Formats: sequence, C-alpha cells, structure tokens
Amino acid sequence: MRGILGALCPRCRTGKIFRKSVWRFPGMYERCPACGLKFEREDGYFLGAMYIGYGLGVGTLAVLTALVWEVLRWPLLKSVAGGVVLFLPFAPVLTWMARVLWIWMDQGIDPDRS
Ligand SMILES: [Zn+2]
Repeated sequence: MRGILGALCPRCRTGKIFRKSVWRFPGMYERCPACGLKFEREDGYFLGAMYIGYGLGVGTLAVLTALVWEVLRWPLLKSVAGGVVLFLPFAPVLTWMARVLWIWMDQGIDPDRS
C-alpha cells in the first residue's frame, strides 16, 4: 500500500514512477531509476489506466455531488454541477493514481522479468 501511495516501482519498491509532482502531469520516468523496469510496456499501454481513472472519477464525483446535495440542499442537477466544479482539482491526482494502480495491477498479473 505504501508503494502505491508513494508511486513507487512495483518490482523494486524503491524507484519512483513520476519524476515531478502530480501537478506537472505526466512527468513519468520511462524506466524505473532503480531497477530499470519499463513502465509503458507498449503503445497504448495506459488505455487500461483510463478505465481505472473512470471508476475513480465517477466514485469521487458521486461523493462530491452527495456532499453538495446534503450540505447545500440544492436540486440534484445543480448539485451535480457543484460536484463537477469541486471535482476538477482532483482530476490530475486521480489520473496519476490510475496510472500507478494500472502499473501495479499489470505487474502483479504479468510481471516483466526482463
Ligand atoms: Zn524498480
């Protein structure tokens, strides 16, 4: 869990996946600086991360919309619009987290042994 939250390489758990902060997306290393694991294994590799990002985004938006609806008692559509506005700062973080989860999941299922 610490490796995922710290965006560390799933193989060596010491090298970082991203070279910069989440606000300078993507800023990824091509390979792990510690063990040399190639993060983007093939073209279109991060398409799978988009599915994870979609799930994370919908869940976050639902929570934010429910929060706006509960606190401000706005009508549903207005609450969704408020939830979308509150969601925008989370978008880079969720995209970053989706890539990390995708790399970890992929390496867990089909580890790169090269
Ligand atoms: Zn590594």
